[in-house]
Amino acid sequence: MSENTSRTELSALGEFGLIERLASRIQLQQPSTVKGIGDDAAVIDPQGLHQVVTTDMLLEGVHFDLGYVPLKHLGYKAIVVNLSDVYAMNATPRQVIVALGLSNRFPVEAVDELYEGMLLACRNYGVDLVGGDTCSSRSGLVIGVTAIGAAKSEDIVYRSGAKDNELLVVSGDLGGAYMGLQVLEREKAVFTETGAQPDLAGHDYILERQLKPEARRDIIELLRQLDVRPTAMIDISDGLASEAIHIARSSGLGVRLYDDKLPIDPTTYQTARDFNLDPTTCALNGGEDYELLFTITQADYAKIKGNPSLTVVGHMIDANSGYRLVDKQGGEHELMAQGWDAFLRKDG
Ligand code: ADP
Ligand code: MG
Repeated sequence: MSENTSRTELSALGEFGLIERLASRIQLQQPSTVKGIGDDAAVIDPQGLHQVVTTDMLLEGVHFDLGYVPLKHLGYKAIVVNLSDVYAMNATPRQVIVALGLSNRFPVEAVDELYEGMLLACRNYGVDLVGGDTCSSRSGLVIGVTAIGAAKSEDIVYRSGAKDNELLVVSGDLGGAYMGLQVLEREKAVFTETGAQPDLAGHDYILERQLKPEARRDIIELLRQLDVRPTAMIDISDGLASEAIHIARSSGLGVRLYDDKLPIDPTTYQTARDFNLDPTTCALNGGEDYELLFTITQADYAKIKGNPSLTVVGHMIDANSGYRLVDKQGGEHELMAQGWDAFLRKDG
């Protein structure tokens, strides 16, 4: 979905021309970047800190559909989802590396739009794009992003650090990105069948949650200000249920979540109802929210209490008690990590 009208074939620029064009748009801002694009490898100064490295791949037709995702948004999201993983380690992202597989149906203008989104995310989060690779692809667009961050060794927060009785806290609200995807897919299906223009009115919030997610750098900063150090942390890419279980399993514990504590935005709630989906299931298993999920000691509760960005959704229990969900009537069930692929409609 390219917004530009002019079309320059990739072959007109060639690989080196394309890389030069990308490089010319990059302004380095990280003191830890010694050398960016332009040699056989980038050079990074760890400045005495531990480095945190993570990578994610996005495949057309698997992770995104160019039928409804603008390339600029896709570029932005591709960077942000990696930065989210770095923040989830309580580290600061500094550099990203981008590998692209481009099919020749992509004009140079489309690559420009993709990079516009990527470079906007880099600017917003203060990271440098320091290198990458460019190949031709026969099976659609492939985007691989690697992010590099840094932290003092004692500040790094692992999934494995939770203790029995600690509180499980989530930032923001849940299920919105999943409901945004449902709206986009419905409108795409209507368009394919009838040619009707998409009706996206009233869904701004959940569409933004799906198309332009942000990494919660602000929450990492907030926790520092509040003098709260999470004991374990993870970002929510697959859904609260599965991430809570990741923390519990890595920490050798169980976990209990409370249905009536889940933070759900009113628009998410209403859209779920309109789609005949259970809002709780969307919050538990809807993917791509990119919120942070972490544990804190009971002693730290007073510091976060009442903060509108933070919600206590449960607590850690011993391993033998397993993974539990308490419903609104107080009944207890086993918590299932469905992830968002295995998601079932109530009526289906
Ligand atoms: P080599 O052939 O040695 O692997 P390349 O020609 O692939 O080198 O890359 C040359 C330079 O351009 C390197 O600094 C590399 O990191 C950078 N680069 C290549 N592709 C991209 C891309 N898609 N985005 C950003 N930088 C890139
Ligand atoms: Mg190369």
